[in-house]
Amino acid sequence: MQIHKFGGASIKDANAIKNVSEIIRQMKDDRMVIIISAIGKTTNALEKIVHAYVTNDVSYEVLFDEIISNHKTLIDSLFEKKEDAEFAISGVVKMRTDLNEWMLENPNKEYTFCYDQIVPLGERMSSFIVHRYLRSVDITNEKLDARQVIITDDNYTDANIDWDKTKYKVSTHIHPGSNIYIMEGFIGSTAEGHSTTLGREGSDFSAAIMSYCLDAAKMTVWKDVDGIYNADPKLFPDAIVLKELTYKEAIEMTFYGAQVIHPKTIKPLQNKGIPLHVRSFLQPDKPGTKLVEKINQESFPPIIVLKKEQVLLTFSNRDYSFLNEKNLGRIIQAFGDLSLRILVMQNTAISFLVVTDLKVGKIEFIMKELDKEFSITKTVDLDLLTIRHYYQEITDKYTKGRNVIMAQKTAETIQYLMSS
Ligand code: ASP
Ligand code: MG
Repeated sequence: MQIHKFGGASIKDANAIKNVSEIIRQMKDDRMVIIISAIGKTTNALEKIVHAYVTNDVSYEVLFDEIISNHKTLIDSLFEKKEDAEFAISGVVKMRTDLNEWMLENPNKEYTFCYDQIVPLGERMSSFIVHRYLRSVDITNEKLDARQVIITDDNYTDANIDWDKTKYKVSTHIHPGSNIYIMEGFIGSTAEGHSTTLGREGSDFSAAIMSYCLDAAKMTVWKDVDGIYNADPKLFPDAIVLKELTYKEAIEMTFYGAQVIHPKTIKPLQNKGIPLHVRSFLQPDKPGTKLVEKINQESFPPIIVLKKEQVLLTFSNRDYSFLNEKNLGRIIQAFGDLSLRILVMQNTAISFLVVTDLKVGKIEFIMKELDKEFSITKTVDLDLLTIRHYYQEITDKYTKGRNVIMAQKTAETIQYLMSS
């Protein structure tokens, strides 16, 4: 069994979906589950609907009309036969009508709950369209409903997987009679039957969940780039595609801000030693990047991640006394309570320096909370440059002429905090 994930960009219009179906046709003798994201930017549009809905702004109907009409247009230009297009359109329209009815009757306007009942429409429509289209071009496939398979708790918008229940559900829905299954990414449901979502960009994670539950031989994520680069090619023109990468390296890259893969994706794969392949849907003949547990290569090329909009907070005791471990614990606890990630920290006798993302409300909250105990300074507009497998030449190259405020290194990783 293999798991494939196609993101929103890969199915953004009729031609894109045709391209995806050709990729699937090439592999159609394999057994596979294909995970589909919402088309293009549909999720962003649905988020606007949620906002309008919970604030009792009836303009969400107009937004709905727009989304549905975009999907209809796509269906019209995608399907060859009129009756196939009509069938697909009626399916999409019914999804919208049912959701609309639910919205009118639903008394619970709690934001995260409503989000998870409304936003899944994007994946439900896209996976249905792909499922019907593949059938219309003679690629036999079955549609799986992620809400019947991926079982989660009710931590809406960032639901946690109930692995035992999900494993059981997967085993009851996948059977020897079918080779190709199409399923929504990003969504699941509680045991009580309320839809849930797994966090933005969560379709990678959905694919990893299915890989784990089915002991897949391999998982493939199809992207609009040739693979995983050693640096963001938009910022570093001499970036190269990595042939191979370890899970550990991918996790480190993601932590420091590289948008390689959804952070939750790696663990289920690593646990079962399932390789992950990142490939280009635009150039499927290119080798892409393989993520594995261990690679033979003696040393990696340097991996460079630049994270912008960083904030440096410096804490010290008001009376110039040493900062002891209790003080440090107290500060770190405050970050933990807000789930505000510490990317770098460093301490001196009287001060503690913390680098974190610019999360506006949260930073103000921490400063207010700790203001009585510590004197705090805040420096904004910083870049955090992280280089793994660094050497002198490369660190010189990227720090030359920059104002470095703070640096830190281990044998593998060097980091520079610089004014942007
Ligand atoms: N459609 C969802 C999003 O845009 C999930 C995904 O694309 O993975 O966040
Ligand atoms: Mg997406």
